[in-house]
Amino acid sequence: MKNLLITILMAASFTCAANKAPLKSYPNGATKAVIFSYDDGVTQDRKLVELFNKYQVVGTFNLNSGLFAKKLPWMKAFTGKAGEYIKQSEVKALYIGHEIASHSYSHPGFAGLDTAELKLQLARDKQILSPIKGSPLNSFAYPLGSYDKAAMTLVKQAGFTNARTVNDTLNFKLPTNYMAWNPTVHHSNAMPLIEQYLALNSNELSVMMIWGHSWEFDKNAENNNWDYAEKLIQTLSYKDDIWYVSAGEFIAFLEGK
Ligand SMILES: [Zn+2]
Repeated sequence: MKNLLITILMAASFTCAANKAPLKSYPNGATKAVIFSYDDGVTQDRKLVELFNKYQVVGTFNLNSGLFAKKLPWMKAFTGKAGEYIKQSEVKALYIGHEIASHSYSHPGFAGLDTAELKLQLARDKQILSPIKGSPLNSFAYPLGSYDKAAMTLVKQAGFTNARTVNDTLNFKLPTNYMAWNPTVHHSNAMPLIEQYLALNSNELSVMMIWGHSWEFDKNAENNNWDYAEKLIQTLSYKDDIWYVSAGEFIAFLEGK
C-alpha cells in the first residue's frame, strides 16, 4: 500500500514537472511560422492569391483604398505594360482566406507627415476597408517603408496591432516592436533564407515574414518572375512544423488574444 502511494506521488510529481515547462508552440503545435505580406493591391495580386491558394499559405494584403481602379503608367518601364490597382468591388472575393490590411488611403510617406494628414490617411482607409473585411483592420504596412515615432503612435492609436516596415532582419526572431515590425526578407532575396528556415531545428518560437509587391513578378527578371514565385511558395508549403498565418492573427496569438 505504501509503495503504491509512493508510486502515485511520483507519477503526480512527474506530471506536475511536465506541466510546469510546457513546450511553447503555435496553435497547430508548430514552432515555426510563415507570413507573406504584400503591398499596394494591384491586379497582379490575382495571380499571387491563386498561388497562395494552390499551396495553402496565407497572405496579408496591404491595400490603398484611395487608389482602387487607378492606373499605374510607370509600371510599364518595369514590366512592359501599364499597371492597375484592383477594383474595390473585387476586394472581398479576391482575398477570401487572406488578411485585408491597410497601406494608408493614398500611399504618402509617413515620416514627417503632419498629424492631421496622418490621421486622415489611417481613418479613410479603415472606413472603406473594415466593412469589406467585415471586422476591424489589424495590420498596417508603412507606404514606402517610411515612418517615424509620430507615425508609429498614430497607427497604434488608430487601432492597428502591427505595422510592417521594409527593413529586412534576415533572421527568424519574433518581432519586439509591433509598430515597427521588421520583416525577414524581400521575396527576391528569400530563397537562401527559406532553405535556412526549413533546416532550422529549434524549440524556440520563430517566424519568417516575406514581403514584396505582386507586380514585381511581372518584371520577368531573375528572382522576380512567376516561376520563381511559385517555386518559393511551393518550397515553403505543406510543412507540418510551420504555421501559415496572417500578420494580424500572428500578433493576436503573441498577445494572447
Ligand atoms: Zn506600397
